[in-house]
Amino acid sequence: MPKHIFVTGGVVSSLGKGLTSGAVGTLLESRGLRIAVQKMDPYINVDPGTMSPFQHGEVYVTDDGAETDLDLGHYERFTNAKITRESNYTTGRIYLNVIQKERRGEYLGKTVQVVPHITNEIKDAIRRASLQEVDVAITEIGGTVGDIESLPFLEAIRQMGWELGRENVCFVHLTLIPYLRASGEMKTKPTQHSVGKLREIGIQPDMLLCRTEQHIGEDERSKIALFCNIAPSHVIEEKDVDTSIYEVPIVLAQQGLDELIVQHLHMQAGKRDISVWERIVGILKDPQRTVEIAVVGKYLEVTDSYKSMWESLTHGGIANGAKLKLRKVNAQDVEKQGAEKLLSGVHGLLVPGGFGERGVEGKIAAVKFAREKKIPYFGLCLGMQCATIEYARSQCGIKDANSAEFAPDGPDSVICLMDSQKQVVDKGGTMRLGAFPCHLQKGSRAQQAYGADVVHERHRHRYEFNNAYRAVLEKAGFRISGTSPDGKLVEIIELEDHPWFLATQFHPEFKSKPTAAHPLFRAFVKAALDHAERT
Ligand code: GLN
Repeated sequence: MPKHIFVTGGVVSSLGKGLTSGAVGTLLESRGLRIAVQKMDPYINVDPGTMSPFQHGEVYVTDDGAETDLDLGHYERFTNAKITRESNYTTGRIYLNVIQKERRGEYLGKTVQVVPHITNEIKDAIRRASLQEVDVAITEIGGTVGDIESLPFLEAIRQMGWELGRENVCFVHLTLIPYLRASGEMKTKPTQHSVGKLREIGIQPDMLLCRTEQHIGEDERSKIALFCNIAPSHVIEEKDVDTSIYEVPIVLAQQGLDELIVQHLHMQAGKRDISVWERIVGILKDPQRTVEIAVVGKYLEVTDSYKSMWESLTHGGIANGAKLKLRKVNAQDVEKQGAEKLLSGVHGLLVPGGFGERGVEGKIAAVKFAREKKIPYFGLCLGMQCATIEYARSQCGIKDANSAEFAPDGPDSVICLMDSQKQVVDKGGTMRLGAFPCHLQKGSRAQQAYGADVVHERHRHRYEFNNAYRAVLEKAGFRISGTSPDGKLVEIIELEDHPWFLATQFHPEFKSKPTAAHPLFRAFVKAALDHAERT
């Protein structure tokens, strides 16, 4: 039976619970323990797939095709845990299951209630995620303690603490210790109240992780410990890191968090080895080179909306011993001001995924600029579709080439709705989702980067390259270097007459790790470094 760690958050949202849960996973794995990581989200959407990136940030896609919270991306980047559809539940999904059971008559005439039926469903979901062979299951409870929505989740984990026994369950509470600059003081009261709220529910945290801008002195630590009913040694400081989020496991290790957890859970564990993380942070702190990459997108104000892409770029940098300078360019600004003005001087250009017509002509103009000026170009999903449209327009004389997403009745849909999407009516969970095999063409840039003939990459789209235009584009020098095994779906395109121009229908950013950069991100950053040297 696995042990359980439950991570809750207090005082404010966006404290980095996902990141912290991932970092706890890193530390436990570094001691030879096998882990599962899971997130419970209190909102009512069945999954985040239908939410706008402005509302929710990135929708992270798993191998098995679930559209999930972006914190699952942190889990995959920080740990080797197997992340699946079972790794993310929302209130909506829990209720949907319960209501479907009720309709099937499975409650045998009982009145269906939040306690015990919803809480039982939550506990089943937590148990299912830890059915794999693991020693410890880490479950993050989304939201902030005190929210109405998270109550059933807190009640469920309270029950589990009671049922499994205190040596089998560890409650970790992440909180904020604000610093008031005007009075030069750290304030512990919000944390006292948040822990008070948890104790009202019946949960006594075992460890307190305190997010803070300043070092927490012994006086404050004792005060927090006293008011929160916790040993001072179990009050851990999680101070803002200077260089990179990949420092978080190191900061927590310095304070022995892993040892406290291992002791609390009465576990046998090996010696900690996080040298690989120390090496990564070392590279980021003292990079040998810097290179400037522009990203032309439309959700750039919200940093979370392309989370995995930013991280993957960083990983590409780490793999090349380089630090990236990122130029965030709004696609609509490119439409108004022109590519030359906004993109001159960059060493690489990336157009990420996206939906809807707004800004698309700016992205196409950016692709044209990169192609003509021979600046390394990397397109992800919509970025591949824009590259196809641009090539058809400029190199094949198809002046009205477009995607059926933006011009449904246009004469030349070089990007068209996938056959499998034509009957789809519902919006939620119905795109082409999850990992599919992709065959790489021998001698292509893609095959060289991967060093493999077949790869599996994750998808999230409804539109695709239209095969009716394949011959014409290929004749004009457009190389199709990756396809589905039957050759029908175009998954990677590249240009030969260019230092590095490659775009994918899938999302490689979901499979990159700081400890193992995705081959295409590594190759793209390398190409940008080469470009920087040439110019
Ligand atoms: N909107 C495009 C499609 O649905 C691209 C999707 C994406 O970039 N994820 O095919």
